[in-house]
Amino acid sequence: MARKNEPSFRESVDMMFNRAAALMDLPPGLEEKIRVCNATYTVRFGVRLRGQIQTFVGYRSVHSEHMEPVKGGIRYAMSVNQDEVEALAALMTYKCALVEAPFGGSKGGLCIDPRQYEEHELEQITRRFAYELAKRDLINPSQNVPAPDMGTGEREMAWIADQYARMNTTDINARACVTGKPLNAGGIAGRVEATGRGVQYALREFFRDSQGVAKSGLTGKLDGKRVIVQGLGNVGYHAAKFLSEEDGALITGIIERDGALVSKDGLDVDAVRNWIAKHGGVTGYPDGTYVADGTKVLEEPCDILIPAAMEGVIHLGNAKKIKAPLIIEAANGPITSGADEVLRDKGIVIIPDMYANAGGVTVSYFEWVKNLSHIRFGRMQRRAEETRTQMLVDELERLSADKELGWTLSPGFKQNYLRGADELELVRSGLDDTMRAAYQSMASIWHERADAVDLRTAAYLVSIDRVAKSYRAKGL
Ligand code: NAD
Repeated sequence: MARKNEPSFRESVDMMFNRAAALMDLPPGLEEKIRVCNATYTVRFGVRLRGQIQTFVGYRSVHSEHMEPVKGGIRYAMSVNQDEVEALAALMTYKCALVEAPFGGSKGGLCIDPRQYEEHELEQITRRFAYELAKRDLINPSQNVPAPDMGTGEREMAWIADQYARMNTTDINARACVTGKPLNAGGIAGRVEATGRGVQYALREFFRDSQGVAKSGLTGKLDGKRVIVQGLGNVGYHAAKFLSEEDGALITGIIERDGALVSKDGLDVDAVRNWIAKHGGVTGYPDGTYVADGTKVLEEPCDILIPAAMEGVIHLGNAKKIKAPLIIEAANGPITSGADEVLRDKGIVIIPDMYANAGGVTVSYFEWVKNLSHIRFGRMQRRAEETRTQMLVDELERLSADKELGWTLSPGFKQNYLRGADELELVRSGLDDTMRAAYQSMASIWHERADAVDLRTAAYLVSIDRVAKSYRAKGL
């Protein structure tokens, strides 16, 4: 829902697009073709639950088919509406182009509060929704491939995959109809953590960019940086966990639906997550100070702010009060276009959503490729790799046995070097490579072009150019 005096989510995305498109020299009409959403399908279906029929409203929006299949998550939330799915579908187009995932943009949603339903009821509802979409090819391995988003996860993706397979019994690629599935149902190692992992890799890459770091006014690396994260769901939890456990960042604030926790010494992310799982919220958590008005914590001083819950949380009403010098948009659209301007004027650096949370679609791409190739990554080469490295290690050991040379192998070297990469390592390597390359493509424009005033504009410039080239290659 749009806030008073502010554009809707879709209008906000369009305005950010327009700002970048105005700096480009696109042929007449192409700019509009890229911006508009191709089609949005609305479905209303009934499911018999608890003795009566309940009607649900769902959407699947296709923003751009310059590449197919189109790709984008399915969200379960009461706030889902046409404007929102269209905004999210557009962001998917730009996101896929930026990280060079060969997909068009799409998004889906169901107006439902999943917490109000039993598991078997959610399965019934999900299967029915999937049936409605699949029979119109809005779920299809070569046309439209959904993934998890807010309120959905591996479980829902497994139901969708199974529903599609039941309806398409001879489709050998049926498993590729959806990504984010559990490993035993055709998923890929590292998909659940992928978006949070991508946020971590994005921040690591940002801190390697000395010019970018200087623009934010920060210094040094991630170690010791104070981080506030909003939303300890899939994306926020993994981002906060990896940043604190592996990069030495301090999670000084966690904002959830029922309030926030703050601690200047850093919160234990796993302990908070377990508390939420048990008690339904952060209230009562003993090792931090509880703040009832959680959104106020967005305004607390910190080094890095990670909105990882939902759109529109930083708006004209609070943008002026934000103190973080660096914001990374782990959620989609957490900053309205008006707030974006205010923050830019304040000199705050924003790592934009279309890049920051692209880890999910990147690993979804790997999962889709795995499903189409019907083989786990690394299965053919892992042992061959080990055999070759064994030869080298044997040779080194032979040399180190020579007392005159005086060589010794470091402890642990043999084990670490000998081990061929498994699927998880390959996925992380592919994700890291993708996040680095995408950052560099937008940061080089940000640093070189005076009119690319921020990373978001630079990201749009890269994406729009790639989508435009795709359309032109099709003769448009
Ligand atoms: P999720 O449902 O797993 O988690 C969302 C979390 O935010 C929950 O813990 C919820 O309690 C909390 N939350 C909801 N409303 C809140 C509010 N008003 N204030 C504070 N906390 C609130 O969802 P997710 O998959 O982590 O998605 C979060 C965001 O990341 C969304 O914008 C989504 O579009 C985006 N995203 C997700 C993925 C993915 O792979 N899951 C990929 C790209 C982008």
